[in-house]
Amino acid sequence: MIDIPDGSLFGLANLPYGVFSTPGSAPRVGVRVGDSVVDLAVALGEEVFARPSLNAFMAQGHDRWVRVRQQITELVSGEVPDGAVHPVAEVRMHLPVEVADYVDFYASEHHATNLGRLFRPDSEPLMPNWKHLPVGYHGRAGTVVVSGTDVVRPSGQRRAPGEDAPTFGPCRRLDVEAELGFVVGTGSELGTAVPIAEFATRVFGAVLVNDWSARDIQAWEYVPLGPFLGKSFATSVSPWVVPLLALEQARVATPAQIPEPLPYLEEPEPWGLDIDLAVSWNGHEISRPPYREMYWSPAQMLAHLTVNGAASRTGDLYASGTVSGPEKHQRGAFVELTWGGAEPVRIGGQERTFLEDGDEVTITATAPGADGTRIGFGEVTGRVLPAC
Ligand code: MN
Repeated sequence: MIDIPDGSLFGLANLPYGVFSTPGSAPRVGVRVGDSVVDLAVALGEEVFARPSLNAFMAQGHDRWVRVRQQITELVSGEVPDGAVHPVAEVRMHLPVEVADYVDFYASEHHATNLGRLFRPDSEPLMPNWKHLPVGYHGRAGTVVVSGTDVVRPSGQRRAPGEDAPTFGPCRRLDVEAELGFVVGTGSELGTAVPIAEFATRVFGAVLVNDWSARDIQAWEYVPLGPFLGKSFATSVSPWVVPLLALEQARVATPAQIPEPLPYLEEPEPWGLDIDLAVSWNGHEISRPPYREMYWSPAQMLAHLTVNGAASRTGDLYASGTVSGPEKHQRGAFVELTWGGAEPVRIGGQERTFLEDGDEVTITATAPGADGTRIGFGEVTGRVLPAC
């Protein structure tokens, strides 16, 4: 029986999946229990887990996810085979999913309002479409990286206020966005839409996301087609995928949606999620964004993403957009926390507005789990390296 420390965020109520390796062995699928990783290819003797991503297992579908979760629960409550258990401190974690497509939404009303005020001070902060559909853009799947991967400061075109022409150079306003990401387990055919009700059987689980953002590059390039190079240089995700099956206890209503959404976005039992995020900058906690404040639910995001008949695939990742609450200490991006750089924050005796080379940002999160426990998402962390 595997020892699970009291109060562990990785008890039987959680059982997140990841891809790990030990020295000299190939990456394969494991499940985290307490401070251990259980090698599922060894413990369950199935080839689908001897793969360097979760995709093949996810593609087997919801019924299978339910059965394997039950099998793992029974397994780790009894005798786990020798050689199947590794201390988490001794394994290396890899990107858990071969990311198919990557989409990023913009589902926090507080974040969208703050950014509207900062980027377009002379107009209404929310665009007329915002309360009618979950606004999003297609990001770059190939630059989704696992937690712990260093992020090189991007270079690009930027034009600061008051400059009459753009210049090229390293980003001067490098920022983070604390988000939750949802991983599609079973996709949908081209020409069909995924109804709201199919969210829970198609989405496999959730990860933490840091959507690194070059605000100066973004501000100059985003009109009129949206984010491009200001976002695509790197997107970091946590290595543990928390199954949607572990998030039942975290379900809460979404905030009141007025005006009423169109029928394809109506959600009788909303998938709001009571997840508490925390953002640390060089080891100092500076924000606690509450996911329960998010206006659009992940089920509405998936319904919207496919309503035009766009296919979805195993391994698709769609992120929520920055999680920000109504209070200043609940803002999930530094551009909001420092109000565009005008109000620096103090980090260990130093003033900061945007990221400096060598800075490290870590996002963590916890949620209510079954039987009064709490479950953890682990962390997504990354350090900024100087521009090439
Ligand atoms: Mn984002």
